[in-house]
Amino acid sequence: MQKFSYHTHTNFSDGKNSAEEMIQQAVELGWKELGISDHLIVHKNIADSFSWYSWKKEPKIFHFDFNSIYDSFARHIEDVRKIADRYDIKVRIGAEVDFFTYSGWLDEFLKFKDVIDLDYYISGNHFLFVDDECNNIIDIKDAAHLDIKEQTNCIKRHFKTLEEAAKSKLFSFIAHIDYIRKIPICSRFDFLEEKNALVKVFAENNAVTEISTKGLRKADDFYPNKDIIKQLMENNIKLVISDDAHRIAELGYNFSDAEKVFTDNNYANRWFFSSKNK
Ligand SMILES: [Zn+2]
Ligand SMILES: [Zn+2]
Repeated sequence: MQKFSYHTHTNFSDGKNSAEEMIQQAVELGWKELGISDHLIVHKNIADSFSWYSWKKEPKIFHFDFNSIYDSFARHIEDVRKIADRYDIKVRIGAEVDFFTYSGWLDEFLKFKDVIDLDYYISGNHFLFVDDECNNIIDIKDAAHLDIKEQTNCIKRHFKTLEEAAKSKLFSFIAHIDYIRKIPICSRFDFLEEKNALVKVFAENNAVTEISTKGLRKADDFYPNKDIIKQLMENNIKLVISDDAHRIAELGYNFSDAEKVFTDNNYANRWFFSSKNK
């Protein structure tokens, strides 16, 4: 049984528990390793978005520019490292990054990555790009405000962006690759061409992705769904189990079900930080 999670959130972003509570719970579970990956969401035009009415209620999560988050991330890292020192567990501090493709974003992210001492980054995309340049984004839950043609284009851009994130090789793994299935026109039977292309890009770039039990909490299947997991396994993509825990009760949530997917498919190509990695 996998006894760690690298995809978790604390109250530094949208989690319900403090880093210390999450660490204590991981120790309680008998884990020797925990990764904390709070959201890193920076988009220059978020205040112009149709979805700003709901995002502005979450000032800890949504940011206009990287300069505004240097101090808070530096403090967060320092705080968590101090806490982690008191427990018998290896704690890695990372971030779940929304990968944006507008001009200038990548340079700012690379600069942030240079200055700020995080252990790892995962990519998790949560938004729809309303235009090709990603100058305008909206929340997936607001997709219904777009017509079907626009939704279709947004979904295609979403999968393309995941491809770009994989090709960038900046991320330890790519999270919840069919998160967008929340949109009704993106069921497990839709956008198969895009999903196939994504798996192919993962294979070509040695990208890693997760089997997230958050899907079981929110819907009736893992993120990604079992059809995609099968394809990932056929293409020998490295996989890691995640809980995307936002509270202590979600740490290790249903990991036994995810383990069963590995054993049922006789699949052993799993990803974890190697001991020499840190
Ligand atoms: Zn996410
Ligand atoms: Zn997450």
